[in-house]
Amino acid sequence: MISELGQERADALRRVAELGGLLADLEALHEPDGDGECPACAAPAPCLTTLLLRGDISSEQAFGALRDAEVIDLARAERDCPPVPSLSELLAQPTRGMDRFFDALLGLPPRADRAS
Ligand SMILES: [Zn+2]
Repeated sequence: MISELGQERADALRRVAELGGLLADLEALHEPDGDGECPACAAPAPCLTTLLLRGDISSEQAFGALRDAEVIDLARAERDCPPVPSLSELLAQPTRGMDRFFDALLGLPPRADRAS
C-alpha cells in the first residue's frame, strides 16, 4: 500500500509538471507584443485568456466581458449575406458531378451532354 502511494504521488507530480508546462505555453501564447496587445486575441493586454489563466477572473466574468464587448448585429449580418436559395431551386440544379461520379462508379463512359 505504501509503495502504491509513492507511485500515485509520483504520477500526480508528473501530471502537475505537465499541466504547469501547458499553462506556461498558453501564457507565452498570450504574451503582449510591443504594442501592448495580445497577438493571439488581438486585444489589449492583459487579455481575457491571460486573466483566466492566472485565475484573476472567473469564466462567468470572461463570458460577461465578451458579451459586453462583442455585439452581434444580426440584422446587418442577414442583410450582407447572399439570399439563401429555396429547396426547389437547389433541387432543380443539375448534379453533373454526382452523375459523373456514379457513371465512373458503374464503369460507364463519360457522356457528351454531361461533360463540363
Ligand atoms: Zn490573449
